[in-house]
This record gives sequence, C-alpha cells and structure tokens, in this order.
Amino acid sequence: NAEAKVRRLRDDLAQANRLSILGQIAAGVAHEINQPVAAIRTYAENAGRFLDRGKTEPASGNLTSIVSMTERIGAITNTLRTFARRPGVAASPLPVREAIDGALSLLSGRIRDSGVTIVKPQGNPSPMVMASRIRLEQILVNLLQNALDAVKDQPDPRIEIDLAERDDRVLISVRDNGPGLGPEAAGNLFMPFQTTKEKGLGLGLVISQEIAQELGGTLQLDPGSAKGASFTIDLRRIE
Ligand code: ADP
Repeated sequence: NAEAKVRRLRDDLAQANRLSILGQIAAGVAHEINQPVAAIRTYAENAGRFLDRGKTEPASGNLTSIVSMTERIGAITNTLRTFARRPGVAASPLPVREAIDGALSLLSGRIRDSGVTIVKPQGNPSPMVMASRIRLEQILVNLLQNALDAVKDQPDPRIEIDLAERDDRVLISVRDNGPGLGPEAAGNLFMPFQTTKEKGLGLGLVISQEIAQELGGTLQLDPGSAKGASFTIDLRRIE
C-alpha cells in the first residue's frame, strides 16, 4: 500500500544518506590523517639530519612535534573506533529517561565542575523507543558535551533537556544558552571535521547523526532558537 511505499522510500533515502555520510567521514579521515603523517615524515627526516651533525637540541624539538601530531591522529582514530565498535548495539525497548540519566551520569564530573544548571525533562512522559542504550547515550553525551562547551563563558550557564511525544514520535531536545550558531556555521554543522574548537575534531555531530539514523530517527539543529542552540533527536515511539 501507499503508506508502506512511502516508508520504504524514506528508509532507502535514509540509507543512501547514511552511506554518503560514511563516505564523507572516510574521505575526511584520510585527509586529516595524511597531513600529520606527511609532516611527521619531514620532521623525522630532519631530526635524523640534525643528529648526523650532532645537533641534539633541534632534533629533540622535532621529536616533540612528532609526539603532538601522533596525539591528534590518535584522537581521531579513537573517536572512530568507539563509534565503529558498536558495543551492545542490539536494539531493545528502552525508556528514554534511562538513556538521559545514563548520559548525565557519564558526564557528572564535568557537570559538577562546570557549575552549569541542568534542567531535566519536566512532567512525567516516559516514552519508550527501540534502541541500544549505549548508542542513544552516545548521541546525548555528544550533544551535552557541545552544550557544556557552548555555555562555558556564560554568566548563568544552563542546559535544558526536553522530552515530548508527538503521534508515534519521541522528541528529545538538548538546549543551551550559549552563543548559538550563525547561519553559516549552521549550514556546515553536520560535515565531518568542521570545528570551531582548538582541540575539536568535528566528528561528534556527524557521528551522532549517523547513529540517530541507524536507530531509524533523525538528529537536527532546531531552527531559529532565540538564544543559544537547540538540537532535537526524533525517534519512533513504541508501546
Ligand atoms: P567538535 O565538538 O569536535 O567541534 P562537533 O561535530 O560536535 O565537533 O561540533 C561541530 C561544531 O559545531 C563545533 O565546533 C561548534 O562550532 C558547533 N556547535 C556544536 N554544538 C554547538 C552548540 N551547542 N552551540 C554552539 N555551537 C555548537
């Protein structure tokens, strides 16, 4: 029937979109890793030349640079590995509040140190979704980490988590009162390696969106937040 057809089309589209995201990640990773690898080679060759001439001090400087470049490569591969390992990836009926509590407890140390006010979902909707708890927590942790980064310099830092049910959907949103995103930044948000942070990798949102799609849902930036940024995860509700 028509409804099944529409759903299949949407699934196909989601699948095509996922493959294109994975392709972009792969291409981006190749690029991001090639650069430091080439630099490491140059530094190592030069270090060898310095040592040949008995100049240990510049040689040791080169080695220090090499270490910092391998750290960046390590950060990239670690992020991808956590994502690819798919721990407990089997989906089962999951109360969304459990994943929210799980994500908050994973970040409890950082939340405490930051002095940010965290507002948990009000009321008592207690929707269930079909998802691996670890996967949903991964998305929430990414969103919360970004929100924590965003409110760092705010006078009254605040992050609100909302939970809403609409028809057969569950909407989980994470809203902060940080500086928000200009239209340009918003356009590039889900592209791999787009980051404004000094130590950022620009993989968090791409990977989170990929996981949301794997769970049969979406992750989006909410349009036109008056202040700060708000992201919404949209998943299918189950009984
Ligand atoms: P990373 O955190 O490593 O930079 P992400 O993919 O998680 O990678 O985020 C990409 C970029 O999107 C960030 O560098 C930041 O500029 C922007 N961003 C994400 N979340 C927020 C937010 N809550 N408020 C403002 N900017 C954000």
